[in-house]
Amino acid sequence: MPMNIITRYKDKYTSLLKETQIPLMQSRIKILAFGLILLSSLTFIILLNSLVNPHMTIVIRLLVLLLTMAFALYLLLEKAKWQLSGHIFLLSLCTFIWTNLIFYTSGINLVTIQLSLIIISSSFYILGKNWGILYSLANVVPIVIHLLNSRLQNGQVTITQFQISNLSFLLALIVNFGILIIMHYEFFKSFYHSHYKERELNAQLQTALKEAQEATRLRSDFLSSMSHELRTPLHAVIGMINVLSIENPRKDQEENLAILRFSAENLLALINDTLDFSKMNAEKVLLNTADFNISTLLQNIHASFKSKAEQKGLDFRLKTDFESNPLYVNGDQNRLTQILNNLVSNAVKFTDNGGRVELSVTTTAQIGQQVVLLFAVKDSGIGIPKNKQEIIFEPFLQANNNITKRYGGTGLGLAIVKRLINLHESELKLVSEENIGSVFSFEISYTLAKPELPEEKIPVVSIPVQEISNLNILIAEDNIINIMLLKKILDQWDCNYSLSKNGQEALDMVKTGTFDVVLMDIHMPVMDGFEASRHIRELPDANISKIKIIALTASSDVDIQESFNFTYLDDYLLKPFSPLLLKEKLEAVVVQLSGN
Ligand code: ADP
Repeated sequence: MPMNIITRYKDKYTSLLKETQIPLMQSRIKILAFGLILLSSLTFIILLNSLVNPHMTIVIRLLVLLLTMAFALYLLLEKAKWQLSGHIFLLSLCTFIWTNLIFYTSGINLVTIQLSLIIISSSFYILGKNWGILYSLANVVPIVIHLLNSRLQNGQVTITQFQISNLSFLLALIVNFGILIIMHYEFFKSFYHSHYKERELNAQLQTALKEAQEATRLRSDFLSSMSHELRTPLHAVIGMINVLSIENPRKDQEENLAILRFSAENLLALINDTLDFSKMNAEKVLLNTADFNISTLLQNIHASFKSKAEQKGLDFRLKTDFESNPLYVNGDQNRLTQILNNLVSNAVKFTDNGGRVELSVTTTAQIGQQVVLLFAVKDSGIGIPKNKQEIIFEPFLQANNNITKRYGGTGLGLAIVKRLINLHESELKLVSEENIGSVFSFEISYTLAKPELPEEKIPVVSIPVQEISNLNILIAEDNIINIMLLKKILDQWDCNYSLSKNGQEALDMVKTGTFDVVLMDIHMPVMDGFEASRHIRELPDANISKIKIIALTASSDVDIQESFNFTYLDDYLLKPFSPLLLKEKLEAVVVQLSGN
């Protein structure tokens, strides 16, 4: 029968430990179980021993202690109530010490000190910090008071003999030391286990982090090479549409070309946005700060959307509260341009004929050199239904399924804008009503910068077409389709041009020829466009080294501002460029040359 009970409780104990998977909890249960079993066994033996020469009060105290311990053990194993069991265990020990101090021996002995140490350690180990402090004070304070009291009375501290037999006393000493050792051993084991586990987990985490970073890098590399591969033929398609558009197409051909352009530009926007968005997720995109004139930036944005807005019959205005005096600030002008371009482009896109679009910037606060600007892009367009006002900031989501068909777009613009604004430690806000319009706004805090001397502007003079035809142009380009496109465009204006297939060839031809301008592709085999431009600038003959160089690149505008070294380049053109833009750049070269 007793064997059955022991096996039953052993199983209960094992399953209790199994259920409690956390090592710290397991060690708490172990400490409590060992303490209860050892102390109740000790009490039982001392009780038996004291029956030889019975002393009523001792027998009763030991009996009460034994029953309480047994009850605590029952609560722990049978009911799995380890906290309640822990309190009963500690309270019974405290009561034993208090009654010992006050009523019986009126003194302390080694066993009292041992029990006190057991209470202090086990209260912290089993019940935690707060209960640990409470139980420790509850049994240390009476002992200290007793010690002080006895010192005051006798001038010395008495350590009294316990009122049980020497054998019981010795046994109690040994068992109590055993409990103290087991308790600390168990707790250290769980502490070491947690520490070891933590180190192991940290190592696993580090490996996983490295793997994830590597995977992200690979994905980003893959995306950027894929997008480059996709962009190259797409540039040719858009370039060809441009060429066909200036070759006096028939009315029906014009319509077909418009559809072609819409789809191709949409696809290009998707590729560019996907790349930008993935970069933003993969790498820690940092803001590149420098001093800049925010008034000029706003005027440029206004100018670049003005004609599109006019074509759609929209009234597009720029409003600032610092109109008369230009504002210079320190910040990332490319990212601000990207944010505003996206928002204004959406406002123009989603506003129909006769509507209004307004880009406004107001100073909301200025403390010392710090200025807070509120940017708002307001339109009287189609608006966004209330239930779509959150999802439109998610990547690839648009307000409804007809948007792509009717207006184009990728659904990535606002997701990018939102991240860029967050990067400025601010938030993008939206107020919109369907068929009334939308306002996208955000605040950015800038440090004021010193105004620079106004840049010397190259006067844009309209020049008759034949003047471009006098230019001697060197094309440095390796892609045959791009060469074909450039030839077709330049042939339209009767320009003189020569061809080189890489940077080295361009350099050699510049040394021997008499060119006015080089249209320099950046990504070329043998020697890239940067390298070739640097070599040209280092040539000893000043007439040759000062030749105008216009870079041709498929990178995005932001990438160019961030990574291009303009020391060797005069200007750049983003592929696919419109023939008109190339013409403007070439006309500017003519103006500069005639000014020299
Ligand atoms: P895209 O313009 O390429 O579709 P965006 O992320 O820039 O992608 O915009 C997501 C969606 O938010 C748009 O498809 C449109 O439904 C809605 N939206 C954005 N700006 C406006 C606006 N000014 N007026 C109305 N709807 C807008």
